[in-house]
Amino acid sequence: ENKPIRVAVTGAAGQIGSVLCFFIAQGRMFGPYQKVILQLLELPAAEGPLKGLCLELQDGAYPLLAEIRPSTNAEEAFKDADVAVLVGAKPRGPGMERKDLLNENAKIFKVQGEALDKVAKKTVKVCVVGNPANTNALIASHYAPSIPKKNFSALTRLDQNRALSQLSDKLKTRVEDIKNVVIWGNHSLTQYPDVNHGEVIGADGKRIKIRQAVNDDNYLNDAFISRVQKRGGEIISVMKKSSAASAASAACDHVHDWWVGTKPGEFVSMAVISDNNKYGVANGIIYSFPVVCKNGEWQVVNGLNIDEFSKKKFKATEDELLEERKMALNI
Ligand code: NDP
Repeated sequence: ENKPIRVAVTGAAGQIGSVLCFFIAQGRMFGPYQKVILQLLELPAAEGPLKGLCLELQDGAYPLLAEIRPSTNAEEAFKDADVAVLVGAKPRGPGMERKDLLNENAKIFKVQGEALDKVAKKTVKVCVVGNPANTNALIASHYAPSIPKKNFSALTRLDQNRALSQLSDKLKTRVEDIKNVVIWGNHSLTQYPDVNHGEVIGADGKRIKIRQAVNDDNYLNDAFISRVQKRGGEIISVMKKSSAASAASAACDHVHDWWVGTKPGEFVSMAVISDNNKYGVANGIIYSFPVVCKNGEWQVVNGLNIDEFSKKKFKATEDELLEERKMALNI
């Protein structure tokens, strides 16, 4: 029998975290045969809801859930973790500026980076969901110098899934028949959903370029991009609260593909540390790229053709990330 995987989840009792815990216990993250140990972190103020969550998880009687360890101490929650999904973050309060939000979260992710550095496995794979996710991941990594930088990532898979759902609706095709649509840059309004390398599998089994299948560049360069960028806001305006289950689902997709590997010929979006000026992006920021994963390692897809329109979009989201880094870490 496989050894259980230790998964730490922060903000476990929150909207996203609580759904995520059930998904993990059901096998959505590591498949239907892999046991897990959940190590759940919450603030002392949320100890009640955290206890309640643990009771409900027990009552799920999940065969894959080997153990549940709730805690309000980061060093306890991250002890020997194989995977850490960092969901807990300070939400933007009324009248709060972006700089304030960054600074508040910088404090949280500094503490978490230090704790990971001290007690997690050196191979721990970290996926940051809490916003501003890219920069929070950079901060955690900065304060965890003994863990390789490539082990820190932020979630842009929800944005990718949103793009797939828009295209499947537009093309009246199954979502799983659309491949290689990706997100570049920051998980924010400046993100760039890119269809240029994407393909759709037609009824005859042949692959067609998405641009050709949609045959409406005005839509793809404008309404499509802004719908994906603003989908979070659209959900808040309808539901009066933010998306949670779709974010938890995307976090499972992200970690699953990282751990298990991507399918042959397919790539996915992950925000990871930029280096070697790949695609002209400045080094040392957590930027979303198309990646393939194999043997637990991601690699940025090489050699994609980038047009002038895309280069401008890359730059805008890079500038924002550089500015966030400056505000949070002064580098
Ligand atoms: P949610 O579970 O709704 O959101 C958690 C974080 O995920 C937020 O930063 C949110 O950003 C972000 N996020 C990223 N992508 C999305 C998306 N697509 N849709 C919605 N959110 C997204 O927040 P809750 O307040 O319900 O839960 C947070 C929990 O974290 C609380 O229980 C709190 O006690 C805990 N917490 C724990 C900390 C710790 O462990 N040290 C520190 C701080 C909080 P956005 O705000 O932009 O929506």
